[in-house]
Amino acid sequence: MNTLTATARNDLAALIHPNTNLAQHQEIGPLVITAGDGVQVFDEQGNAYIEAMSGLWSVALGFSEQRLVDAAVEQLRQLPYYHSFSHKTNAPAAALAAKLAELAPGDLNHVFFTNSGSEANDSVVKMVWYVNNALGKPAKKKFISRQQAYHGATVACASLSGIPSMHRDFDLPAIPVHHLTCPNFYRFGRPGETEEAFSARLADELEHYILDEGPETIAAFIGEPVMAAGGVIPPPQGYWAAIQAVCRRYDILVVIDEIITGFGRLGTMFGAELYGIQPDIMVLSKQLTSSYQPLAAVLVSDAIHDVLLSQSQRLGAFAHGLTCTGHPVATAVALENIRIIEERDLVGQVQRLAPEFQRRLREFADHPLVGDVRGIGLVGAIELVANKATGQPFAQPGTLGGYVFRQAHKHGLIIRAIYDTIAFCPPLICTQADIEAIFSAFERTLVDAT
Ligand code: PLP
Repeated sequence: MNTLTATARNDLAALIHPNTNLAQHQEIGPLVITAGDGVQVFDEQGNAYIEAMSGLWSVALGFSEQRLVDAAVEQLRQLPYYHSFSHKTNAPAAALAAKLAELAPGDLNHVFFTNSGSEANDSVVKMVWYVNNALGKPAKKKFISRQQAYHGATVACASLSGIPSMHRDFDLPAIPVHHLTCPNFYRFGRPGETEEAFSARLADELEHYILDEGPETIAAFIGEPVMAAGGVIPPPQGYWAAIQAVCRRYDILVVIDEIITGFGRLGTMFGAELYGIQPDIMVLSKQLTSSYQPLAAVLVSDAIHDVLLSQSQRLGAFAHGLTCTGHPVATAVALENIRIIEERDLVGQVQRLAPEFQRRLREFADHPLVGDVRGIGLVGAIELVANKATGQPFAQPGTLGGYVFRQAHKHGLIIRAIYDTIAFCPPLICTQADIEAIFSAFERTLVDAT
């Protein structure tokens, strides 16, 4: 008897899932999510799940914020679409650009909108190349990134990302990029080395790479304030100051990918504030609209914008843009989303909740399967290992993680397994009771795995 619902049947027949083992999906079948309420979502059978990942690290305001719905509906009635090519504009896009410029650190005063984080980082690559050509530095084109970094899925962004499965058989990287050591102290810190010494070693590695390649060939360093999709890796002490100093020494742009960390996740509006980073370019998405609408933003410094202006004097149009760049509905939702984050002081709320969240997370450190526990603000991870004493990973990476991920569903919990690292990133509106519910459900899940 075929007990699959129509949605499940259609899914299995026709839908190609992103970042999913497609063969395994045909065996396991889809989890059909039909509704949301606060920090919870519900499946077709009415089962409730606490969404401990905010969807994909993004639904800051939870799954039922009526004000975001109203903002979208109102804008759909007023003006459902207009583009911003050739001098056209619309009120929400212009207002959001001004608001982001006001919120952003330093002189990141100019904003380019895209529909996704990947398109935003792709735009960064194009802008950086365009700017260096304008400055008479045509050889200055290489990007430096990190092993395990995640910057998106397009040809350029998957190239920037340092996750081997994103390159294998896709013929990537396809742009000039080099991935340096992942700043994961647990994995790559040496015996007896302090975090500061590890940061200094990473800065040295960066400097040597730049000198070996020639600074005149290196355009930009791109990094996440806290690496997220690569396994939730807060930077070691002193990391950003050391990296930034090297970049400045060799005229290398600092691009900060705040697609996950932006809008309060770490307990500051942006990760740049927390780590004292003065980026030349900053990229935002996800919590920008709580993902109620697809939207991302590239913020550039006055200096970069000046070059874009001078290029237009020389070449004419800035020949880059998307049909939905500055979409009025998406930008209206973002404005309302930011208004709510400010009105409810959700950045302060993260500061208030983070100690309990991090304390509860670290309680798992003694578990025999747990090698490392790490996190900051309202994001964290528990790394499961084959050998707790040595930190040795499992021979078949991701098998236990995948089991834990699926088993958590049975306990009403949605988490993420990054191979065998389990990530937690609850909505910013969560309460202390939600945090307790997340970790007690995870405790029950781990019992199944032991
Ligand atoms: N950069 C970072 C740090 C991300 O976490 C992501 C998505 O997870 C992206 C870029 C890509 O964004 P999108 O999936 O919207 O293309």
